[in-house]
Amino acid sequence: RLEIRNLRRTFQGRNVVDDVSLAVMPGQVTCLLGPSGCGKSTTLRMIAGVDMQDAGEIYVDGALVCDTVHRVPPEGRSIGLMFQDFALFPHLSVAANVAFGLKGSKAEKQARVEELLEKVDLLGALKKFPHELSGGEQQRVALARALAPRPSVMLMDEPFSGLDERLKDDIRDSTLEVLKAEGTAVLLVTHEPDEAMRMADEIALMRDGKIVQQGAPYNIYNAPVDKKSAAFFSDIN
Ligand code: ATP
Ligand code: MG
Repeated sequence: RLEIRNLRRTFQGRNVVDDVSLAVMPGQVTCLLGPSGCGKSTTLRMIAGVDMQDAGEIYVDGALVCDTVHRVPPEGRSIGLMFQDFALFPHLSVAANVAFGLKGSKAEKQARVEELLEKVDLLGALKKFPHELSGGEQQRVALARALAPRPSVMLMDEPFSGLDERLKDDIRDSTLEVLKAEGTAVLLVTHEPDEAMRMADEIALMRDGKIVQQGAPYNIYNAPVDKKSAAFFSDIN
């Protein structure tokens, strides 16, 4: 479970993230949706622990991982990451990529790797190397790798942006299925309304650093809070 309260980040006197609060329950997907430059990635970076907020608190499973005084390092936060430029290790096999962050005995690691590769339907590619896989297959390995240590929270920043348009919907659906089966709390960043409509249990609509509306996709689509939000959604077909 992820909770952020009143998060703020200021660059050169401008509040790029401005009083953002959110909660994501296990097994739920919240999409942080908004136009380019509205502060989505900055929000995710603070939660991941690679940037520090100027105000506010971050909790994972009820435990404080960061406020302006205390700071748990990224690897101690039980958070998995999938960013658009987050590549696989080219010199490691698929199995070794997925096992990378795992602790425990060799047998335990192998069991977890096989369980996840089975879930992403790539058990047959266990011994292959990243360059032998398609973009979509690499994306599925990256998902397995991020989920392997059983993080409570998964942060995804435009994870499908590099993929072939024709593959996107299938990969979105299969990714969602795996995330739901793992029961991870997911915060997914996107600037594409149709992706948020397809994947989210809840949408948090962001503009100029603020969350302007939050709720079920259907409600946001049908009752946008103002003209700007309506216009943002109007590109959906
Ligand atoms: P996109 O959809 O294009 O990825 P975004 O919503 O992820 O956009 P952010 O990357 O969070 O946007 O950036 C929000 C704003 O903060 C932008 O105006 C950006 O220029 C600014 N910004 C981000 N990082 C820094 C930094 N390190 N120093 C100064 N300004 C920054
Ligand atoms: Mg971004």
